[in-house]
Amino acid sequence: MDKKILVTRSSIPPFKEYIDEISDIWESHWMTNMGEKHQKLQAELKGYLGADNIDLLVNGHMALELSLQALGLSEGEVITTPFTFASTTHAIVRNGLEPVFCDIDPVTFTIDADKIEDLITDKTVAILPVHVYGHICDIEKIEDIAKRHNLKVVYDAAHAFGETYKGVGVGNFGDVSCFSFHATKVYNTIEGGAVCYRDKKFGTLIYQLKNFGIKNEEVVDGIGANAKMNEFCAAMGLCNLRHLDEEIAKRKKVVERYRQHLENIKGLQLAVAQKGVTTNYAYFPAVFDESVFGEGRDDVFKRLADNGIGARKYFYPLTNSFDCFEGRFDASKTPVAMQISKRVLTLPLYADLALEDVDNICRIILEGH
Ligand SMILES: *Cc1c(COP(=O)(O)O)cnc(C)c1O
Repeated sequence: MDKKILVTRSSIPPFKEYIDEISDIWESHWMTNMGEKHQKLQAELKGYLGADNIDLLVNGHMALELSLQALGLSEGEVITTPFTFASTTHAIVRNGLEPVFCDIDPVTFTIDADKIEDLITDKTVAILPVHVYGHICDIEKIEDIAKRHNLKVVYDAAHAFGETYKGVGVGNFGDVSCFSFHATKVYNTIEGGAVCYRDKKFGTLIYQLKNFGIKNEEVVDGIGANAKMNEFCAAMGLCNLRHLDEEIAKRKKVVERYRQHLENIKGLQLAVAQKGVTTNYAYFPAVFDESVFGEGRDDVFKRLADNGIGARKYFYPLTNSFDCFEGRFDASKTPVAMQISKRVLTLPLYADLALEDVDNICRIILEGH
């Protein structure tokens, strides 16, 4: 193919719509610090996500990092998954906490809830699972374990925006759920994020921590950061939210087209539809079993790249194999995660991806079969 296809392409509203949305900022001169756009977006997202409580942040990473802080977790172990984006693990380590890596489920690629309890010690303070590719974690089992062992649960819900489980918005599970509104996600505010949470006291704390820990003009009682969403990002969020359902419907068509070509191919494993879950069509992972498919992940990746198609080795490497942690963790203790990580590609997926392009991408992939 002549044209290049990237793995994703950010959703963006009509130019005029955004200009209209930001025009009143020129009257108010209020560009950040929880202004009108911030408040409006927060209210709208609360409705969209069906969340009891929500607060907006500058990005998904700071949502994770400040959530752990706001829960009062400053020492101990956090059971988490290595099959995730750098952010999840870094949020733990940057809080002075020790990540303890649990292996993943071979079908949903989320934390294997049956393996969590073996990892609990007297130092364990929390569980930090990830809803990988929009697959929802085993929420019930995790909730039960957390209750019995008195652990906090923070979900990395960066991939699960707008999803529901048994009719309940995914942000309502655990103590906190963290969302990312990065440009590459299903829903974006250019950069942005949010926390949905249970306890109102947590809400007060996170609100202060995202603003340097300032309680009022004369009292600073938290060692916070600067993690406020600015008005231009909130305005982008207001615009993108108006088009979101339409964008997700288009993604669904793309995913269905992929499935037509790639379902039932021997040696090729795809995402699964989970019972009770409404999906957001965020990612299209494909796991290549070389001995059955005929070709390995890296070969397919290269052939796609040679044809101008950008797939992504997502997530590879595992976070417990990162150079910055050299010698600190043992990735062989999470063998399923290691295997999936070496075999998985996420394929190009965005609302405006043409179905003929999907046909071509699949043709190129299946040349190796
Ligand atoms: C995108 C992402 C994050 C980080 O979100 P940012 O908004 O980019 O900071 C964290 N975890 C996962 C799983 C992600 O995909």
